[in-house]
Amino acid sequence: MEFTMYRGSRQVGGTCIELKSGSSRILLDLGMPLNDKEGKDFLVDPLKGKKVWDKEDISDLKQRGILPEIEGLYQDDKKDFDAILLSHSHGDHFGLLHFANPEIPVIISPGAMKMIETLNAFVPRQAPLSNIIPAGHNEDLPIGGFIIKPYLMDHSAFDARGFFITEKSTGKTLFYSGDFRASGHKKKAFEMLVDRPPMKPDYLVLEGTSVGRGEPEYKTEKDAQRGIREVLKQGHRLVLVACSGQNIDRICSLYAEARNAGYALVIDPYVACVLENIKDLPYASKVPSLTSPGIRTLIHNYGHGDKYVRLAVKEGSKFAGLKKLLGLRKLRPERTGAGKYVVLVRDGIVPAIKAIPRYKDAFLIYSQWQGYLKKSHRKLTEFIFESGLDKNMKHIHSSGHADVSTLQSLAAALNPGKIIPVHTEHPEKYTELFGAEKIRQILDDTPMEI
Ligand SMILES: [Zn+2]
Repeated sequence: MEFTMYRGSRQVGGTCIELKSGSSRILLDLGMPLNDKEGKDFLVDPLKGKKVWDKEDISDLKQRGILPEIEGLYQDDKKDFDAILLSHSHGDHFGLLHFANPEIPVIISPGAMKMIETLNAFVPRQAPLSNIIPAGHNEDLPIGGFIIKPYLMDHSAFDARGFFITEKSTGKTLFYSGDFRASGHKKKAFEMLVDRPPMKPDYLVLEGTSVGRGEPEYKTEKDAQRGIREVLKQGHRLVLVACSGQNIDRICSLYAEARNAGYALVIDPYVACVLENIKDLPYASKVPSLTSPGIRTLIHNYGHGDKYVRLAVKEGSKFAGLKKLLGLRKLRPERTGAGKYVVLVRDGIVPAIKAIPRYKDAFLIYSQWQGYLKKSHRKLTEFIFESGLDKNMKHIHSSGHADVSTLQSLAAALNPGKIIPVHTEHPEKYTELFGAEKIRQILDDTPMEI
């Protein structure tokens, strides 16, 4: 088969790989990069509100090195792909999907599909989800010249998948890890994979986000949960938590600790829709929903134009039926004087946070990648420094990515013929970690027969 890595051979983010067998083509992930061609921080914001189906946008973004040059993929072109496989719902893996031809089937887990569906209700860009092939766990999906077997992976994105792919004509096999770890609330998924690995693949396309990075303070999700517990023990009246609305493991940790310490966990309408949308899925039995005890929704101006409520319940929205429930669970910012609250904070709800009396006295848990704190275009970052919340802040976060020993455990269990580095800033370090004879470094935009 022919293997082309359009992006990912020496960067984290924007992963995009093509596999071709005869005339059959499949794509592994279609991620938004963090940087443009010149390595400059790529702003997603200019895309907001634009009619991103315009052919103009596609050629412009190709020129800036944001969209990889791939024939037969985009919606301005004739469909020439059998499927797009998405490993999970992080933007750096699916964030360019809205440019793809909607006729191409998308293979995605039920949980990741629900995450993207929820985002679709809140953002102007619409990732096409009309042509879905659900990626269960450990089931064969025959697609064109390939057989695809998805595997549940433990990652900070909900219901992530790796893919074991067999080329029908030659029997050659490849395992694409996607992003994964063995330290989250679903570490069992990793243990199962290592205990009962699929047949020795010819190639392992292995993410290496953590390669070359230092040791984190909180190694596992349980460590992060312990860190949260210690902060809540200090008895602050108001604890703000900067955390991704998609990090379901972290939201579960926060919910458990908030309940134990007598706090209500306050989410916003977007997070409420995320939780409601996944609550009936197989891996979500411990995930809180809008009706769980101690869950409240921060709504600035219910009934008078709260932006997120308006988007959630607009006509035709999947979440229109939530209007009453959102109202019943609402907590107005000005009503937070009595009681103890743990409030999730994201870019979009900064105005609601500013409406909380004495919000500047809150304790802030920064519970996501610290690198975002250096990105000045983020509203949340600006807000944190302007309001002095950084002076009363603790960074409590465990990574979504495997540490080096976990990468080595997976490689040992799968025992692949060769390892292809992906999603890493340090592909050269793979030779020390796995042995030079095991590594096949493939450069971006260079088709290789494998
Ligand atoms: Zn990820």
